[in-house]
Amino acid sequence: MNRYRQKKTTGIGLIRRTYTRKKICRFCADENLKIDYKDSRLMRNFVSERGKIMPRRITGNCAYHQRRVSRAIKISRIVSIIPYTSINI
Ligand SMILES: [Zn+2]
Repeated sequence: MNRYRQKKTTGIGLIRRTYTRKKICRFCADENLKIDYKDSRLMRNFVSERGKIMPRRITGNCAYHQRRVSRAIKISRIVSIIPYTSINI
């Protein structure tokens, strides 16, 4: 299903729309895919370059799985699989 998102109104009153594809939660789509804090490759998909957790509107996760993912990321930060932040000098 496609949807349109209203992004910005110009001064004249024209509405500029951006085309967005509806994302599907990959954990709901694939039952075999488990959220595991030890899986660094998977966890890195949900973390930005600076180490921030990506929001749901970008990852496309459902609310339930986004909660699980953010918890897993926080655990894997503690066991230093994912950095808290990147060193940028
Ligand atoms: Zn889900």
